[in-house]
Amino acid sequence: MDTLKFNLNDQILDLASGCSALEAFKLAKVPFKGPQKPLAARLNGHLLDLSAPLTEAGDLTPVDQADSEALALLRHSVAHLMAEAVQATFPQVKMAIGPAIENGFYYDFDKPTPFTPDDLTSLEDKMQVIAKKAAPFERTEMTPLAAVEFFKARGENYKVEMIEDLVRTSRPKTISIYKSGDFIDLCQGPHLPDTSWAVAFKLLSVAGAYWRGDERRPMLQRIYGTAFFNKKDLEQHLHLLEEAKRRDHRRLGKELNLFSISDEAGGGLVIWHPRGALLRFTLEEFERREHLRRGYDPVIGPQILRSDLWKKSGHWDNYHDNMYFTEIDGQGYAIKPMNCLAHILVYRSQTRSFRDLPLRFFELGTVHRHEKSGVLHGLTRVRQFTQDDAHLFCTPENLNAEIKGVLDLVSDFMETFSFKYEINLSTRPTKSIGSDEAWKLATDALKKALTEQNRPYEINKGDGAFYGPKIDIKLKDALNRRWQCGTIQCDFTLPDRFDLTYMDRNGLKKRPIMLHRTIFGSLERFIGILTEHFAGAFPTWLAPEQIRLLTVTSRADDFAAELQAEFRRKGLRAEADNRNEKLGYKIREAQIQKIPFMLILGDKEVENKTVAVRHRSGEDSGVMSVTNFLTLATREAEWPQWNRQT
Ligand SMILES: [Zn+2]
Ligand SMILES: [Zn+2]
Repeated sequence: MDTLKFNLNDQILDLASGCSALEAFKLAKVPFKGPQKPLAARLNGHLLDLSAPLTEAGDLTPVDQADSEALALLRHSVAHLMAEAVQATFPQVKMAIGPAIENGFYYDFDKPTPFTPDDLTSLEDKMQVIAKKAAPFERTEMTPLAAVEFFKARGENYKVEMIEDLVRTSRPKTISIYKSGDFIDLCQGPHLPDTSWAVAFKLLSVAGAYWRGDERRPMLQRIYGTAFFNKKDLEQHLHLLEEAKRRDHRRLGKELNLFSISDEAGGGLVIWHPRGALLRFTLEEFERREHLRRGYDPVIGPQILRSDLWKKSGHWDNYHDNMYFTEIDGQGYAIKPMNCLAHILVYRSQTRSFRDLPLRFFELGTVHRHEKSGVLHGLTRVRQFTQDDAHLFCTPENLNAEIKGVLDLVSDFMETFSFKYEINLSTRPTKSIGSDEAWKLATDALKKALTEQNRPYEINKGDGAFYGPKIDIKLKDALNRRWQCGTIQCDFTLPDRFDLTYMDRNGLKKRPIMLHRTIFGSLERFIGILTEHFAGAFPTWLAPEQIRLLTVTSRADDFAAELQAEFRRKGLRAEADNRNEKLGYKIREAQIQKIPFMLILGDKEVENKTVAVRHRSGEDSGVMSVTNFLTLATREAEWPQWNRQT
């Protein structure tokens, strides 16, 4: 019999070929108790069932609950469990697919009517019963032909279609199916050893979903759920979901009177109300100030540009589906989906020398992109939005410093809002333009800057822009959710297409390198994220209303008006509430609107020219002179500052 060598936790094991990972772990005395109990194996980087026969030598490690892929394994296994419960309850239902997704799993079923909330409850009960049976997940392999026959006989036409597709695209020798209890599913695996691991799960919601996301194919019924290794983690997650609901920016947007989106105006088009507009105005002012301080030049381009330009840039061929078009005097125009082209024209408006570079053109540029109605969502997915966009033109010598400068800006801006963030480096997609050499140069430049600044990053293969590789910034909000915001994109292609040049030191014509970059990305989306991150309690410098003056009786009205005028002169945003309402009511309302300072003005305060200060946190700062309050408020409302030399 063949023996194979395995490296397991620094031990060398000689095992008979075909022996299971489970046996190997037992031999190596891997602990089988508590959270370290193995639930799967990893051989040379690939996940395997614990029961899988080992037919290849190499590095073998146990996968336990702490493993980064363990939750996905659990959730996918629980999806099988759910499908089993669905099949037992609704025998006519056909199975589609059931993958693990971020934070949970789903399974799609072909069922004529949607699942009801009661269905979910009874399915959960049934899943509990199935889980307790501790049925193992058993893998069987068969030829593709046999697999097709097998699922045809069961009337599972979606599975048949998947196998046939698989045969067409990758010609597998065998197809694997998994059996757990009474349930059999087409699946690549791996799974957890048995169903008893499903101790903490919850079915969350239902939705309609087209088969393969294609609206010409049947509408399926999807159930979303989640699972954890213990009840405590599950409770914590459910709490987080509740919190996310409470913080939903669409709800807070209404409560705080920031914005509205209506069918009357059109989907995906945001109407900013005074308070929302003021918030955005402040954010924009902050951006303008910081960009000017960091050596950017403001530029402003038109909203529409001739179609010929978009053809030249490649947008026409690569981005057409997302663009809107119009016509003037028989000439075709496109509404800009990006701000690049006008910035390129500014660059080309003069002869440039190496001494002029780097050039950093900044614009709060409003763009329009066609999004399907189904994906529109509050402020986070809209059809018109404004980007904090810039295009940097530099020499190969400048490139590294420019990328680093942008990364510094990212880090400063994220810190301002106490966002943690992750960095992804996205490489060449299949639909792209430019030479292999240019792609390599650009990708290496981005990698080098990240490495030199010790910024950890992950590679996102094939997810680059069509004209170049990019760094994506994913921020993490207060609920630990990830949001894609800023990007830094390296572009060697547009300078070519538009014949951009500069004179180098020796008087020779050279091509500049172009960087496209945004920091917050879409301001609409960013404000949506900020709203949820702070649960509407924006930092004082950004809050549309910073101070609310609350009069106890109308005898304080004049004093309130006097203070409001003074605060405004000092650049603070103050409003007076002198309605004939009870003080408690006024306080509660100001609290709901998350106004940083509430100043209570009674007879005493009017007489002594003082203010009683209450913070939105509920903290009472007591009575103080107007001057002292001004010092306090001005300090808290100060804009973020850095001393970085860029
Ligand atoms: Zn599976
Ligand atoms: Zn651009």
